[in-house]
Amino acid sequence: MNEIVRSADWVLCRERGPGVPEGIYGAECMSCEARSPLFDDDELPVAVWSIQHTAEFPEHTLFLARTERHWRVVPRPHEDTQGPQPPDAGGVLGPAFVGLMCLLTTLAGFLPALTN
Ligand SMILES: [Zn+2]
Repeated sequence: MNEIVRSADWVLCRERGPGVPEGIYGAECMSCEARSPLFDDDELPVAVWSIQHTAEFPEHTLFLARTERHWRVVPRPHEDTQGPQPPDAGGVLGPAFVGLMCLLTTLAGFLPALTN
């Protein structure tokens, strides 16, 4: 995915994949309502259309060229909540638990000495 913007809950990506054009090119004449056809992944046909339009209407020389792209918004993956917390907690608790057992063992041996 080609990530563009990431918010707290959503990620906006440029849509890529089979059948998805990198860009859709088109142009329109600024002097009249004429518009070129739209072409996927190739702006050359749009340039040719513009030249042909000017050749037909010599005073029409300014065009608005557009490139359109597909965007997709997907839920943001919550990698933070899927972190390695259980293994970390076990790693921290392990030595502490062993230390507690040692302390209890020491007390167990110490207590009978007190009662006697
Ligand atoms: Zn025109």
